Amino acid sequence: MDVFGLLGNPVGHSLSPPMHEAAYTALGMDARYVTFEPDRDAAADAVAAAETLGIAGLNVTIPFKQDVLDAVEPDDVARRVGAVNTVDFTGETPRGYNTDVAGVERAFAHHDVAIDGREAVVVGAGGAGRAAAFALADAGASVHVANRTVERAESLAADVPGATAGGLDSLARVADADLLVNATSVGMEPDDGETPVPAAHLHADLAVLDAVYAPIETRLLSEAAAAGATTIDGAWMLLFQGVEAFERWTGRDAPIEAMNDALRAGLQ
Ligand code: NAP
Repeated sequence: MDVFGLLGNPVGHSLSPPMHEAAYTALGMDARYVTFEPDRDAAADAVAAAETLGIAGLNVTIPFKQDVLDAVEPDDVARRVGAVNTVDFTGETPRGYNTDVAGVERAFAHHDVAIDGREAVVVGAGGAGRAAAFALADAGASVHVANRTVERAESLAADVPGATAGGLDSLARVADADLLVNATSVGMEPDDGETPVPAAHLHADLAVLDAVYAPIETRLLSEAAAAGATTIDGAWMLLFQGVEAFERWTGRDAPIEAMNDALRAGLQ
């Protein structure tokens, strides 16, 4: 039996176990997905223990995504983003990936939204903002990062080729943009009456990905839909980071529909 898992603290409400187990069931795999909640300073020990125990792959979430970077061999994307959310133990040494980046790119692709040559605005410069900015720039977009703390936007933009940065007042650029990603926690339960982007900036030629997935239908997405924009909810990003992790661990095409059904059932 192959064992996969999630390293985080806390991990109690994670939807990764039902999403991955749905994939094992759909493909008839003899595999399990379990959660691990070590002490906050124990990331490296946990990775070493997982390798010793023969665990095939780990997802990594808050607060370990940066700490695990030093405990594995990160690929180029994870190194540039500065965070690992997936560890693959099936090779000679543990390899680290950041599949949140692929999650953003594949969420747009799944909705037939082109990224190459487009103008993109990412609001937020934390973990999700970093993943979104690298995903969009690597796929050929011009990226502007808008963040409440301007210095954080500037620091991220300095790492991303061609990116610019500003405060939340620079969100006016959304009016001329093709793509918008909300990578702040604004709009998340229990503050789901809030939105990070004034509705006046939204328009019909925009595609909007909201990283927030609780609630699924955020105020930003409903205002974007009302403006005629293409909307992509945060569950798609969550789904495709898991799909990408599954495919890296197993070398098989993920059963996307089964994983999506399990994820959305858990989000209701
Ligand atoms: P984080 O690292 O803590 O970053 C939080 C970001 O939100 C920062 O840019 C912060 O700005 C901004 N922010 C917080 N409160 C704000 C406010 N009142 N007004 C304006 N900006 C505010 O968090 P994260 O890990 O990036 O997560 C951000 C969101 O993405 C969360 O809702 C999380 O659940 C979601 N997420 C979704 C996925 C997915 O797969 N769908 C993956 C990862 C994260 P400052 O820098 O000024 O503090």
